[in-house]
Amino acid sequence: MSLDALQTSPLIGNDPVPEEVIERIARARGSLGNQLLILGHHYQRDEVIQFADIRGDSLALAMKARDAAGVRHVVFCGVHFMAETADMLTPDDVKVILPDMRAGCSMADMADIDQVEIAWDVLTDATDERIIPITYINSTAALKAFCGRHGGAVCTSSNARSIVEWAFRQGDKVLFFPDQHLGRNTCHALGIPLDDMVVYDPHDPHEMTGGNDPAEYARRKVILWRGHCSVHTNFMENHPDIMRQRYPGIKVLVHPECRFEVVQKADVVGSTSRIIETVRNAPAGTKWAIGTEHHLVNRLAQEHPDQFVSTLAPFACQCSTMFRISAEALADRLEELTEGVERNVIPVDPETTRWGLIALDRMLSMRD
Ligand code: SF4
Repeated sequence: MSLDALQTSPLIGNDPVPEEVIERIARARGSLGNQLLILGHHYQRDEVIQFADIRGDSLALAMKARDAAGVRHVVFCGVHFMAETADMLTPDDVKVILPDMRAGCSMADMADIDQVEIAWDVLTDATDERIIPITYINSTAALKAFCGRHGGAVCTSSNARSIVEWAFRQGDKVLFFPDQHLGRNTCHALGIPLDDMVVYDPHDPHEMTGGNDPAEYARRKVILWRGHCSVHTNFMENHPDIMRQRYPGIKVLVHPECRFEVVQKADVVGSTSRIIETVRNAPAGTKWAIGTEHHLVNRLAQEHPDQFVSTLAPFACQCSTMFRISAEALADRLEELTEGVERNVIPVDPETTRWGLIALDRMLSMRD
């Protein structure tokens, strides 16, 4: 598909929702009333997000889940780690439901708790300096609990800067996981040179030391986990050049999960909320090449017809796991609830929740 076609195309897979499904959802909602809260992440396709009571990014939805009063069921149109976070933040009697259990996150899957425990042993053996673990919110509940237990915190792409600054007031080094790109971009923006960072590879097949001489961990300030977002790493270093050549005056606006080389060439770097705000506040006639998930970019193009809004890449970068949520699956889960059946509940055990909340509370108390 050509770039011009992409800019004007309907959303990928955004088929109209059958009338019968719309009616099923409306009936179930009417029956469940205020005891139901449907949350929708900005990367959801339009056919799903239209049913969300609240839409937002990870941070905004986490806060909405925490503050929901009188709700018995939160149906989370997002991915697995978001539902886990919501379960930790909501009271025990609130059940969080994921419409489709296949909606995971490839980035969150790149760091499991066993790998992180091994890494912690390697790092703490390598140095006597205090290491503060920071996990991006795009991670499992077990990793959030790990951070709570070891004096660390959770961050989002909105407050990563504040959390890293906080971490360096608590200790000497930072272990940042699972997204090496958010970690690198954030630390570099704070003035930490790339030479003070090292990447820990959990799949190091040789010495089980993360692919580095352990002396490197003693020498560097920031240890980045070798993980990434399979959507945002599709944007390449030459994409800003191509777009600027093709559309003189265009501004490049990217998410910090993008590669360092791409972020360095951007005019504006920011979280999903910042991307939305930036376009919303721009004057008519502004041209944007945006490096983030395709459904959000396409929605921004539809909402701001007085501006030129395009994806940064010459192809659609879609989050295939977010895409697993469908209107039909949402209708099925809601109807089941009206019949007293709770399917696809995402539970987090009390011990994990206790430690995870410590790390999450630090996240919620700090904003950039
Ligand atoms: S966009 Fe990337 S980080 Fe976000 S849910 Fe999809 S795979 Fe995970």
